[in-house]
Amino acid sequence: MSAPKKILIIGGGFTGLTAAYKLSRESDFSVTLVEGSDHLGGLAAGFPLLGTSLEKTYHHLFLTDTCILDLVKELDLTGKLLWCESSVGIYRDGRVYPFMSPLDLLRFKPCSLPGRLRFGLMALYLQKKKTWRQFVARTANEWLTRACGDDVMRTIWTPLLKGKFDRYWNSVSMAWLWARIHTRANSRPPGGGREKLGYFRGGFAEIIGKLESELSRRKVRILTGKAVAQLTFGPGRQALLADGQAVDFDQCLFTGSSAAFARLLPAGVVPDDYRHKLESIAYLGAICLVFVTDQSIADQYWLNIHEDGAPFLLFIQHTRLVGTEMYQGRHVYYIGSYQPHGSALFGMSDDALTGKWFDYLQRIYPQFEPARVCERHVFKFKAAQHVVDTRYEEKIPDYRTPVHGLFLANFSQIFPEDRGTNFAVREGIKVAGMISRELSGKA
Ligand SMILES: Cc1cc2nc3c(=O)[nH]c(=O)nc-3n(C[C@H](O)[C@H](O)[C@H](O)COP(=O)(O)OP(=O)(O)OC[C@H]3O[C@@H](n4cnc5c(N)ncnc54)[C@H](O)[C@@H]3O)c2cc1C
Repeated sequence: MSAPKKILIIGGGFTGLTAAYKLSRESDFSVTLVEGSDHLGGLAAGFPLLGTSLEKTYHHLFLTDTCILDLVKELDLTGKLLWCESSVGIYRDGRVYPFMSPLDLLRFKPCSLPGRLRFGLMALYLQKKKTWRQFVARTANEWLTRACGDDVMRTIWTPLLKGKFDRYWNSVSMAWLWARIHTRANSRPPGGGREKLGYFRGGFAEIIGKLESELSRRKVRILTGKAVAQLTFGPGRQALLADGQAVDFDQCLFTGSSAAFARLLPAGVVPDDYRHKLESIAYLGAICLVFVTDQSIADQYWLNIHEDGAPFLLFIQHTRLVGTEMYQGRHVYYIGSYQPHGSALFGMSDDALTGKWFDYLQRIYPQFEPARVCERHVFKFKAAQHVVDTRYEEKIPDYRTPVHGLFLANFSQIFPEDRGTNFAVREGIKVAGMISRELSGKA
C-alpha cells in the first residue's frame, strides 16, 4: 500500500477549514492545516465576551446562504441557528431615518421626492433583474447616477461607496452592487415580510469549533500560531514556517489573500505575469470597535452613516438583532470602518480611536453615555475587502496555479457576489474536489 498523499492547507478561515473537512474524509490523504494566528476562524473568528463568543467583525447569514446552511445541517448545528428580523437606518443631515420599506423611502427627506421615486424604481428593477453580465464593465457611480440622478447619489449612494471603498469608490463595478442588492432582496421570507438574518446561539464559533473537532477526530494535524513564510518546490516540497519548522507536502492549498500568496512564492517559481496578476488586486483593511453597555442606544440593527466627513461607516447594535439573552442582558455594539492600509485611523491608538468614534456617536445619539461602557475591544484587519473594479474579472486568479499541485482559493475569486462565509464554504468544497480528483488521477 502506498503512503497517504500529504495535503497542506494554509489558512484556518472558513475556506481552509471547509477544504480540510472535505479532504479529511478520504483515508488515503494525510491533511495538515497551518494557521498563522493563534486561533481558527480567520475574518470570522470570535473572541470571548460575556461568557460566550462574539465575532471580531459583525457577522450574520442571509436566507440565500445555502452552502453554509447545508454545512450547518451536516454538522448538526441547525438547532443553534436563530433567524431574526433585521432593521436598517441611515444617518443623514443630523437625523436617523429608518430605511427598510417603501414608506421609509418616501419619508427620507434628505432626498427630493423625484429622487426617492427614482431610487424606488431602480431598486425594484435590480431586484427583478436575474442577470448581471451587462453591469460588469460599468461603474456603479456611472450606472446609478444615470438611473437615479445626482440627488440620490449625493444623499445615498456616494457616501456608501466612499465608506466601503475609500479612494477606489469611483471604480467599483455595478455588477458587485447588483449582487449586493439581489442578495438582500432575496433574504426576505417567501411571501414577503421583513428581511431575516441568521446568527448562531454561541456565535460563529459554534461552526468553527465543530469543524475543528471533526478535523481532530479525523486525524487532521492542526497547527495554529504558525505562519508559513515560504513555499519551496524542489527536490522535495516544503512549507517553511516563520519559527524555522518545515512541513512536507505533495499538494498545497493557500487560502489567504492573493498578495500574501505571491510573497510565499520564491522568484522563478511562477511566471511574472501570474505574480503580477496576484498583486494587481487592491485590498482595503477594516477596523472594528466592539463595545458593551447597559444602554440600548439605537432603534435599528444596522445604521449606515451618510454624512460627509464621518469618521466611520457603520454603527451596528448587534443585540437589536439577536437579543441580549446571550450577553448577560447587556447590549453589544460594533462601530466599523473600511480603511486603506497606512491610513491615520489604522495608526491610531485604541484609546484615541475610541475617543474619536464615541464623540461622533454622541452626535448621532446624544443619550449615549460613554461612561456606561463596561468593555471595549478594537480589532484591525489588513486584507478585509478587495476592490471589485470594472476590469476585475481579468484579475481573478484560477484555483489551479501554474505550479502543479499548488492551489489558491480566497475571496478574491468570488464574483460578482461580495465575500462571505457562505462563499468561503462554497470555494472550500470546490477546491477540495479539485485536489481530490487530481490526486486520484481523475482531474
Ligand atoms: C468587516 C467584515 C464583515 C463581514 N461580515 C460578514 C457577514 O456578515 N457574513 C458573512 O458571511 N461574511 C462576512 N464577512 C466575510 C467573511 O468573514 C469572509 O468572507 C470569510 O471569513 C473568509 O474566509 P476565508 O477562509 O476565505 O479567509 P480568511 O478568513 O481571511 O482566512 C484566511 C486565513 O489564512 C491565514 N493566513 C494567511 N496567510 C497565512 C500564512 N502565510 N500562514 C498561515 N496562515 C495564513 C489567515 O491568518 C487567516 O486566518 C465579513 C468580513 C469582514 C472583514
